[in-house]
Amino acid sequence: MIHDPAQRSFVSVEPNSPFPIQNLPYGIFSTSTRPAARAGVAIGDYVLDLAVLEKRGLLRVPNQGLFSHSSLNAFMAAGRPVWQSVRRQLSHLLSQTPTVLQHDTALRSEALVPTERATLHLPAQIQNYTDFYASREHATNVGTLFRGPENALPPNWLHLPIGYHGRASSILESGNDVRRPCGQTQPPDGDPIFGPSQRLDFELELGIFIGPGNPLGSPIPIGNALDHVFGFVLLNDWSARDIQKWEYVPLGPFLGKSFATTISPWVVTLEALEAFRCSAPVQDPAPLDYLQEGARDTWDIHLEVGIQTRCLRVPHVVCRSNVRHLYWTAAQIIAHHTCNGCNLQTGDLLATGTISGPGEAAYGSLLEITAGGTRKLVLPSGETRTFLEDYDQVRMTGWAQGDGFRVGFGECMATVLPALV
Ligand code: CA
Repeated sequence: MIHDPAQRSFVSVEPNSPFPIQNLPYGIFSTSTRPAARAGVAIGDYVLDLAVLEKRGLLRVPNQGLFSHSSLNAFMAAGRPVWQSVRRQLSHLLSQTPTVLQHDTALRSEALVPTERATLHLPAQIQNYTDFYASREHATNVGTLFRGPENALPPNWLHLPIGYHGRASSILESGNDVRRPCGQTQPPDGDPIFGPSQRLDFELELGIFIGPGNPLGSPIPIGNALDHVFGFVLLNDWSARDIQKWEYVPLGPFLGKSFATTISPWVVTLEALEAFRCSAPVQDPAPLDYLQEGARDTWDIHLEVGIQTRCLRVPHVVCRSNVRHLYWTAAQIIAHHTCNGCNLQTGDLLATGTISGPGEAAYGSLLEITAGGTRKLVLPSGETRTFLEDYDQVRMTGWAQGDGFRVGFGECMATVLPALV
């Protein structure tokens, strides 16, 4: 049983919780009483400690110690048959069927940690991070701002998923503040200057965590691409637009992107999202053979971005979008990334690029929402924004809506701190 909508857990879970028994996302956590980071699964308002279950012999896995590391990499490398087996076992242990986890009080209190007592860490040791540009709406909006509506999409855009190699060392888990970067920019008139970015932006994206990699020189055929996907996280690809604009020709983004990338800490698996598969947009022209898929599967995942200033009590939602709008799918991104023989490695993070949808309410960046900073965004407090100001908090959420439950991602959230000058 991969996904039973009627199943309930013995752990009580609120109907709007992102983490019902249908989800079971993986993360890495520690507690003050046990500071060694280890693997856990989110269930309602608890983290189920997988290292405890493994030590007690309650999880059958091919090699011991999969869950006692400070990253999920060993488990990610194990592949889909092991992921499915562990999911079935966890689903059983957490179900309402009487199990030792439910009835052994000491075990239960050791293994089920209240979320407020858990510190969440990055889920994987990420060696490589690649960012794509897979949303047609986003590429069209940005291209229109820079080149006009006639030449909005670059000539290659409809033929391949454009990407660039990002920076893995500055990926942060949700909750870490982000420092406004300094850099070189070109004022409209005058010479280049160095200083804090004046055009700090967010980008709403989906992060794809790679499970098993591929050997150098062996491309991943598109039909096998999803076998290499462990799961998804929400991702904010922070962007300093003024630094980016001055530096990006001819080699693409560099310091305008590499200062920070924030991800949500729980990795939602493809098994959890199985019931939410849907069709991706039709591609015209048809791509080359190595990018052609049979079914063109994507996922119906709602996405929201909220901005909270110091004058707002709750985040103000500025974007509602959906993963289903993406023109290039996860499978196409992986097939393209490896078509030259490039080797993906376990724990690598691939990001889709900003996920905008049709209509202004689905614009996934301030660059689009404020038309390049020419149109003010008015917040309920009366404050206005073109780009982010210091102490603004950006909060991304996402979920797939089931019948009576949600398979959610939790939060991808961070606050902007003033530049160090
Ligand atoms: Ca991006």
